[in-house]
Amino acid sequence: MTAAFDELDFEYATSVAEKAVRGMDAQRVPPTPNNFHVWFNYALGAPPALKRAIDILIGNKRKFDVHTNRELFESYVGSKASDEAVAFSVSQQLHDVMASAQRFLTEAIAENRDHLAAISDVAEQTEAGVDPKILVESLMRELANAATRATQLEASFNEKSRELDTIRESLLQSEARAKTDTLTGLANRRALEEFFREAQIAAMEQDDPVSILLIDIDHFKRFNDTYGHGVGDQVLKLMATVLRERVRDFDLPARYGGEELIAVCPRANLAMTAEIAERIRRAVAECHMRRRSTGEALPGITVSIGVAQFRGGETMADLIDRCDRALYRAKDQGRNRVVTEAELESEAAE
Ligand code: GH3
Ligand code: MG
Ligand code: MG
Repeated sequence: MTAAFDELDFEYATSVAEKAVRGMDAQRVPPTPNNFHVWFNYALGAPPALKRAIDILIGNKRKFDVHTNRELFESYVGSKASDEAVAFSVSQQLHDVMASAQRFLTEAIAENRDHLAAISDVAEQTEAGVDPKILVESLMRELANAATRATQLEASFNEKSRELDTIRESLLQSEARAKTDTLTGLANRRALEEFFREAQIAAMEQDDPVSILLIDIDHFKRFNDTYGHGVGDQVLKLMATVLRERVRDFDLPARYGGEELIAVCPRANLAMTAEIAERIRRAVAECHMRRRSTGEALPGITVSIGVAQFRGGETMADLIDRCDRALYRAKDQGRNRVVTEAELESEAAE
């Protein structure tokens, strides 16, 4: 991103800056350095997701308050955002290089085939004054040479192509690893944030709901203290499996923190998400676990779950905060239950 900034020529940069200032003025955005950074990028149209997010906010007549401005900065242009952008652009470049190498090799083979075809064309012509027997023999020799070259080239192409496939595969794996929690195999915090950002934009664009559910294992400290951290880890893995199996295909189950799991549920309102949460809660409560080493039956594990629905324009932190309050209400009410934010509100109103 910085590199792109440095390369802008003076007049273009000035026109972009003017556009940024006009935009900020129209939306009453205070001209702080961070806000200017955001709006300069917006005027540039980079990254496209930032442009989309701001256009939607403007379209929905949302106020650019201090939280929104901070969220835009942190999500799209702050140091975290540019780390991701750099990582993305490196892998993108590698993909592009590999694609062009394969294209080149494919063309080389096609050329060679054309060459072979040309030789055989010549072989069909019988030139006056040339002993047809000699002509045919020399052409046959050429043909054999060309065929050998083509075969060699094809073999080396196939080998290169396999190497490239291996590189691409390991690149995809390392991208996937960077987004995966090692213990549970669920999406990690970083993948969660990325998924949420996309879901949030889609929700605002299509006026669809998006909700989250936050799961915390009940009395897990006591369980760890009694059976050891290793057994605790196995339980956590089992919880992850239950979560993965109970959410819908397009939901994102993730590990939020130590023993807290989360799911982002696009196109689900509070009631629908509460149903998903209830399915998860029940499935966990019905698990019977045994210690692998001794076969000893382990006590039942339960979870408490908070559910909250995204409100257009709010930050992920705001949403999680409300969900967390619902979760703690579930703990207060005796654990092994699902509480939605609606229950918080109705109690607050009383
Ligand atoms: P409750 O949530 O019902 O109020 O009680 P709790 O005992 O579960 O309390 P809390 O959520 O505060 O405790 C979290 C415990 O989870 C602390 C730690 O022992 C355990 N924990 C956190 N991360 C891990 C992990 O990665 N592996 C294991 N085995 N345990 C973890
Ligand atoms: Mg906890
Ligand atoms: Mg707990």
